[in-house]
Amino acid sequence: MEKMKAGERSGGAGRPGDEPITILAIESSCDETSCAICRDGVILSNIIAGQAIHEQYGGVVPELASRAHMQNIVPVVEAALKKADCGLDTVTAIAFTQSPGLIGSLLVGSQFAKSLAQALGLPLLAVHHMQAHVLANLIPGAADVAPLAAVVGQSGAEAAERSGAAPRPGVSAGVEARPEFPFLCLTVSGGHTQIVLCQSPLEMKVIGETLDDAAGEAFDKSAKLLGLPYPGGPLIDKYAREGNATRFLFPEPQIPGLNFSFSGLKTAILYFLQDQTAKDAGFIADNLADICASVQGRIVSILLNKLKKAAKQTGAKDLCIAGGVSANSGLRTAFREMGVREGWNTFIPSFEYCTDNAAMIAITGYYKYLEGDFAPLTVSASARAEW
Ligand code: ADP
Ligand code: MG
Repeated sequence: MEKMKAGERSGGAGRPGDEPITILAIESSCDETSCAICRDGVILSNIIAGQAIHEQYGGVVPELASRAHMQNIVPVVEAALKKADCGLDTVTAIAFTQSPGLIGSLLVGSQFAKSLAQALGLPLLAVHHMQAHVLANLIPGAADVAPLAAVVGQSGAEAAERSGAAPRPGVSAGVEARPEFPFLCLTVSGGHTQIVLCQSPLEMKVIGETLDDAAGEAFDKSAKLLGLPYPGGPLIDKYAREGNATRFLFPEPQIPGLNFSFSGLKTAILYFLQDQTAKDAGFIADNLADICASVQGRIVSILLNKLKKAAKQTGAKDLCIAGGVSANSGLRTAFREMGVREGWNTFIPSFEYCTDNAAMIAITGYYKYLEGDFAPLTVSASARAEW
């Protein structure tokens, strides 16, 4: 992306040095329309409008998503400004998701952002959605550090101490905990599964990724085989809580290096269910919790075994998870437990910053603003994007 200096940005006069930096950010890459306001790196509001219309089709219908974004975007932006108690006259820059995503959806957000920037004479910040998922871990107060105590029945600091780890002061202490660079992030969403090495807010490298389905797809496709509605990931999570994860054993693929594969698992689950329901038509209904727990357990072990390998290879001690699948309670708990065993400082964004949201676009926009990484008004949305 073309870099511009602050004085040459897409519009507007320079910002006097001592005024706050207020970013208005828009996310519209898939089926959530979201707007957030961030002032000096602190999130003041994060409004998210979902799109229930896709449920009846068992997946996101791109054309319907674009139309819903067009209906939602103005009220969502107004609500975000109102909640932040912020007028458009105090906004310093406009950030938006430029890539990757559904092109029609991205176009609604990007055109809106560009029009607003031009009308207000403000600079524009073009954000990569996957980079933003990673940086959700840097949102102040976003780190969900509480569950560790619940997992191990003691405070995070005590747990890490007993495991031989030496947590940095503050890491386990509460809401201000943030990962230190360089850190590793496992980004798991409906469209992506990546292990990312982060050297600084804007310097990231993908060191492992899926060769076929994403982890979220593995959840959603498994749920579909079980007759659950879309998106099935959260439902598998819900039923898995009551189930026995060791009841059914699904295979772990042997993929070299740090890459993932989930398509074999999907096929194994399909054949398993076909065999069992041929013998007993009520098999799924009678064993739903155990099947969900076993499927979830395998997806989680595939993810975390690769993350452990990546931590060993890079020597990273601060590890994060991000993306929609990081809302999964089995993954969150297993990640925390592995962190205690391996001596990692572990970070997970709170639920509202895991699935698609504009707060993560705002925080990434904020770091881009600090770097002077502005985009010209000619920038266009892109469905696919290299890092
Ligand atoms: P994308 O941006 O690629 O559309 P998101 O970051 O919005 O993806 O995440 C959506 C994905 O996360 C879906 O596949 C959904 O099933 C999955 N997901 C959300 N919550 C959970 C959960 N609790 N357990 C498992 N998967 C989940
Ligand atoms: Mg996403």
